[in-house]
Formats: sequence, C-alpha cells, structure tokens
Amino acid sequence: LISGDLLEYIFNRFLEVSCLKMVNSSEYDLLILGSGLAGLRAAIAAAKKNSKIKIAVISKVQVMRSHSVSAEGGTAAVLFEEEGDTIESHIYDTIKGSDFLADQDVAERLCREIPQEIYQLEHWGMPWSRRKDGKIGQRMFGGYSYARASYASDKVGFYEMQTLYDTCQKFDNIEFLNEWYGTAIIHDGQRFLGITAIELSSGTFYTIKGKALIIATGGAGRIYSYSTYALSSTPDGLDIAYRAGMALKDMEFVQFHPTGILPSGILITEGARGEGGYLLNKNGERFMKRYAAGKMELAPRDIVSRAMMTEMNEGRGFDHETGVKCMKLDLRHLGDSLIKEKLGAIREISLKFSGIDPSQETLDVRPVCHYMMGGIHTDIDGATELQGVWAAGEVA
Ligand SMILES: Cc1cc2nc3c(=O)[nH]c(=O)nc-3n(C[C@H](O)[C@H](O)[C@H](O)COP(=O)(O)OP(=O)(O)OC[C@H]3O[C@@H](n4cnc5c(N)ncnc54)[C@H](O)[C@@H]3O)c2cc1C
Repeated sequence: LISGDLLEYIFNRFLEVSCLKMVNSSEYDLLILGSGLAGLRAAIAAAKKNSKIKIAVISKVQVMRSHSVSAEGGTAAVLFEEEGDTIESHIYDTIKGSDFLADQDVAERLCREIPQEIYQLEHWGMPWSRRKDGKIGQRMFGGYSYARASYASDKVGFYEMQTLYDTCQKFDNIEFLNEWYGTAIIHDGQRFLGITAIELSSGTFYTIKGKALIIATGGAGRIYSYSTYALSSTPDGLDIAYRAGMALKDMEFVQFHPTGILPSGILITEGARGEGGYLLNKNGERFMKRYAAGKMELAPRDIVSRAMMTEMNEGRGFDHETGVKCMKLDLRHLGDSLIKEKLGAIREISLKFSGIDPSQETLDVRPVCHYMMGGIHTDIDGATELQGVWAAGEVA
C-alpha cells in the first residue's frame, strides 16, 4: 500500500525531473509535423521558395517508415487529353464519387494541378511504370470514367516517397528530426509560437520555436481494428490541433476499401480489379452486376463495400477460419506473369501474410478502414483558423 504522502512525493519528484529536462532546442522558421508525402512535398516547396529559411521536418518515425510508403495502386491525374480523357471528367468523377458532398472548388483545383505534379515527380526521378510507347502508365480505378491512375508497379507510395526524400537532400535548409513525437501547439490565442515534442531516443521533452507550422500528420485509421493503415496512423495530429482550438470537420466520413485481405487487413489494391480481377459470392456469382451493372467491380468504393456487406448479411458470403464473413477476390484468370509484373506487391502480401498464391487460388477479402476524408478545417490554401498554422495531406 502506498500512502497519500508518498504518492504526492513521487508526483512532485516526477514534475521536477520533467521540468529540469525541458529545454529549448534551436529555433526554426518553418516547422513541418510529419514526413509523409504531404510533409516532404511541403518541405521541398518551402525550401525552393527561399533558401534562407530554416525548415525542420519532425516525425515520430523514420522518414521512409511514414505511412505513405504503403500506397499501392496509383495517383489520379489527367495526362492524355489527346486520347480522350478530360480535366472536366476528372473533376466530375471526383465530385460524383463524393455523392456531391465534396468541396467542389478544392476538387477542381486538385484535378487541374495534379498533372503538373506527376511530371514534376518524373523530373525528380520517379520511376513511373511505362506504356509500350514509353509514356507514363495509367490504370483504371473505382469511379473513374477513364484509366487515369498513374502507377509504379503496385508500390506507388514507396517510389513517390523515395523520390521526394531524395529531392529533399538537395536542400541544405531542410533538417529532419526523426523519431521526435510532437505533443502540443504553443500559441498565444492569436498566433502560432512553437510546438512541444519528445525526442524518443532520449525521452527528453523539448519546446521548438517556429514562425509557422504545417501539420501533415496523416490519417488516423488505426482507431479501427480492421484497417489498412500503419500502426503509426493514430489521431495525434488531429488531437494536437483540436486542443489548440482548431475545428475538426467531416470526421464521420471514413472510407472503407472493399478489399482488405484476411486475416491481416492489409490492402489488396484496387489496381487488382483495375487489371481485371473479379469479386465473387459463395454461389460463384459476380454479384456487382446487381449493384452497379455498368462499372461492376470498379464502382466507387463505398458502393462496392456496401454491396459486399449486403451479400454477407444476406448469407451469400464465405466463412473465414477466423470466424468473420468474407467475399472472394479472383485474380487467377490474370495469369502468373501479369500478376508478377503489375501486382508484384499483392502477390508477395498474399503469399507472406495469407499463404495464398493469387494465380492459383482466390483471396479472402472484406471491407476495411482505409482513408479519412475529414480532418482539420482549412481554407483552399490549407490555412487553419490559427494564424501561422497550415494543414496538408490526409490530416486536413
Ligand atoms: C495501404 C494504403 C494504400 C493506399 N494507396 C493509395 C493509392 O494508391 N493512391 C492514393 O492516392 N492514395 C492511397 N492511399 C492513401 C494515401 O496513401 C494517404 O492518404 C497518404 O499517403 C497520406 O499522406 P500524408 O503525408 O498525409 O500522411 P502519412 O504518410 O500518414 O504521414 C504522416 C506523418 O506524420 C507523422 N506523425 C504523425 N503524428 C505525429 C506526431 N504526433 N509527432 C510527429 N510526427 C507525427 C508520421 O510519423 C508520418 O511521418 C493509400 C492508403 C493506404 C492505407
């Protein structure tokens, strides 16, 4: 038994030690919290704009362990208008896919600016997959009216991250604080002043001063047990912003991807259906013909996920050995060589985590938490309500 006095003594000692260890680290002009695709791209943009500003990219994991490395299928952009795709149809598909609830000005700006980003990545060394004529390869994804997911085998996020991280090395004014855990925003009610953070290797608590902050802490899909996200995708960034008085918006809009492989929940990219994979119920039927006869398995993700749940709830699903219901994803007809060439990571994931060769057997899949549409409220330029703080990427 510990007496009240002893507890108080321990608590006071803890406070003393914590306070003694709290030191001011050096000051930066721009702090970027998060080293995923959003954080790295922002760092390069700022460093290019002004080589004199001091930039710190702060991340609780090593850069190349940021969740963005696990993006698989591709990045949507209109590259071939001369072949029939149009920016207008990309804008329309995006807004229609959101059931007309998206911020339409933002969707339009994204669709207009993203082609330039694809070429910019190319110029920085991104190894896009190629068509036979040498142009950047694009594949079909759910909800598209044209094949416009620019892909790099089925590891697009890994290659994009590698390209951006390499590019960051060209700038002397970008400093990486890896394995530093941001805990709070310091502000005076009006303006941003800095953040508090813990250096994980030593456990030391720091204040880091800055003139501006970009929050790029990603999504928080690990709040669901069946999730495609990295274990690091927790809501710290959202929480940090909320505690500093910023509004969180549309948090109920969580995307469930149709094909998480059992039992791990790891993503089987939509590219697998884009390359021609089918979804089957226990009667061997391609059930999507009853839900979306035109787009079939490539209907928007919410439609395919809901259809799968209906099939399972109405007794047309399969029983997985773990006790949950699932549907089958059939890639066998694609053949071993196409799977190895275009879906190599999917093959590896199926073999390693489920013991299944997708060219020989069907995969057990069910809808899985995959993306958070909501986040920190910003304007179209990413500015939050607190002066000096922006948010970018999935956290926004
Ligand atoms: C399996 C999978 C596949 C996907 N495939 C595609 C795809 O093919 N195409 C597509 O367009 N999208 C895809 N997505 C979505 C896309 O990958 C993500 O939305 C995007 O990569 C998020 O990037 P981000 O920079 O916002 O965040 P993240 O990459 O999640 O990075 C967050 C960063 O914040 C840091 N961080 C978080 N909290 C703290 C803290 N408290 N202190 C310090 N640092 C912190 C982390 O260390 C990390 O560096 C996929 C998502 C998943 C889950």
